[in-house]
Amino acid sequence: MIDMKDLKLAAKGTKRTVVRVGKVSVGQDFVIIAGPCSVESEEQLLETARAVKEAGADMLRGGAFKPRTSPYAFQGLGLKGLKILEKAREETGLPIVTEVIDTRDVTWVCEYADVLQIGARNMQNFSLIKEVGKAGKPVLLKRGMYSTIEEWLNCAEYILNEGNPNVILCERGIRTHEKYTRNTLDLSAVPAVKELTHLPIITDPSHGTGKLSLIEPMCLASVASGCDGLIVEVHRNPAEALSDKEQALTPPQFAQIVKRCRALRKFMGELK
Ligand code: PEP
Ligand code: MN
Repeated sequence: MIDMKDLKLAAKGTKRTVVRVGKVSVGQDFVIIAGPCSVESEEQLLETARAVKEAGADMLRGGAFKPRTSPYAFQGLGLKGLKILEKAREETGLPIVTEVIDTRDVTWVCEYADVLQIGARNMQNFSLIKEVGKAGKPVLLKRGMYSTIEEWLNCAEYILNEGNPNVILCERGIRTHEKYTRNTLDLSAVPAVKELTHLPIITDPSHGTGKLSLIEPMCLASVASGCDGLIVEVHRNPAEALSDKEQALTPPQFAQIVKRCRALRKFMGELK
């Protein structure tokens, strides 16, 4: 049982939160965020950005700071990556979702990001989440891989408590004993979170499964679970990706997912 007494600002009331990012209203429109795991070069990002825009994405994702399991793995392009993201926004008009991993970077990353992503590994980095709370920018708060729903909602509470109401939750899979998939995408978290809080929730079937063949079915299942949107990884040439290549969709695969998910969402709207 979740003890709701600790949730003062995140607890469900009469009104649902709608987070406005440019022309997109998260919590009202069904939002699809897509792009590569990492920003690798200007050509890679711009080509992918054009393709996801063409397929119907609402926002562009891309990591400039990568929290990698190994210190020897690609760590991201940092400021150079943010400048490339800015260029992609100028060209496509897509708002930028990018991860911030260090408290000291929050202020200046805000100059480039439209949405600050807090990654699964940092969900309970309390100094970082307080800082993004102070920054006031919309925050995409991913669920920690070892976290309960209660712990996750308490982290959202930290951000709200700093005066930032613009929190979007993201279910990205949790660790279980299952090894076939990278993580276990906990889709029951979607209706559970809807019962407990007014905040919007999206899912990440890319990190949630880690397997290309499972991404589309779990995107469709996410839509059916009642989530407010999706975030998926797309690369212009997955074989060349510097991070998460095994879960990167090609632009045509992504375009099919967008088409099918929007059709299912429309059908669900007609059910009501
Ligand atoms: C990512 O979005 O590329 C990422 C690192 O995600 P997570 O924090 O969910 O592992
Ligand atoms: Mn990734």
